[in-house]
Amino acid sequence: MRTAIRLAVVISAALAASTALAQNAPTAAAATACPGNPNALGVSRVVEIDTAGGPGFGFEHFKAYDFLRDKEVVLTFDDGPWPGNTPSVLKALANHCTKAMFFVIGKHAGWHPEILKQVAAAGHTIGSHTWGHKDLSAKTFDEAKDEIEKGISAVSIALGGPVDPFFRFPALRHPPEMMKYLADRNVAMFSTDMDSFDFRMRKPEQVIASVMKRLEKRGKGIVLMHDFQQATARGAEQLLEKLKAGGYKIVQVKGKTPIQPLPEYNQIVMKEIGGGMENARPVSSVVKTISE
Ligand SMILES: [Zn+2]
Repeated sequence: MRTAIRLAVVISAALAASTALAQNAPTAAAATACPGNPNALGVSRVVEIDTAGGPGFGFEHFKAYDFLRDKEVVLTFDDGPWPGNTPSVLKALANHCTKAMFFVIGKHAGWHPEILKQVAAAGHTIGSHTWGHKDLSAKTFDEAKDEIEKGISAVSIALGGPVDPFFRFPALRHPPEMMKYLADRNVAMFSTDMDSFDFRMRKPEQVIASVMKRLEKRGKGIVLMHDFQQATARGAEQLLEKLKAGGYKIVQVKGKTPIQPLPEYNQIVMKEIGGGMENARPVSSVVKTISE
């Protein structure tokens, strides 16, 4: 299995296209490409992943593809989109002109499509994280397949198009039959190199310390955080400052070929969400508090 997919995977790296086009001096990229923030993290490298055969990434579960160089970091945020917290993370990333991956819960995408559209508009990579965040190792094959496909459909409907070919299992529980299913769907699985355990933390400084400590130990890595969590949202800006000060570089991950949702699951999701997601207006323009 591993060896079969190894041949199918190509990771091509390039300087961030915007940087290369806008400037002939890539070393000054972050400073010059991020107006108003001379200490911006920026994006040092963009990699494109050929997800044919469902390669896995993140050393906690997958050892085959070690694509990060020393000091390189991939930022990943799970369980959004969520009001308040996700926009805070987006603002911090924008202030640093840098990019992250978001692993989105389908139900949350259905509730807050306008926030997910903001994530997409900012140029971040958006993978899926099931429909309802169930532990798939405790489900039958059909139940787990429904969770995966409904999640993909929900993200696709909210965004109005195909989805980046990336998936993360809830609680990082990887049932082998579902790994095979995703491989057949040509979706890459993202575990993590280091889990921040931010969901256990109340204070932003705890999240920052957790991430920095683990990065110092490993020197590089795919970092798992949650834009859903308030402590992470509040600490995001300062975390990015610390990463910059520590000499870390951000790698942006893109998929070579998007995944198409299955039409039958689009129908199921539209029904459960109540329809209308395709044309959803921001909640604030539909529902307004007039008395409290
Ligand atoms: Zn999660």
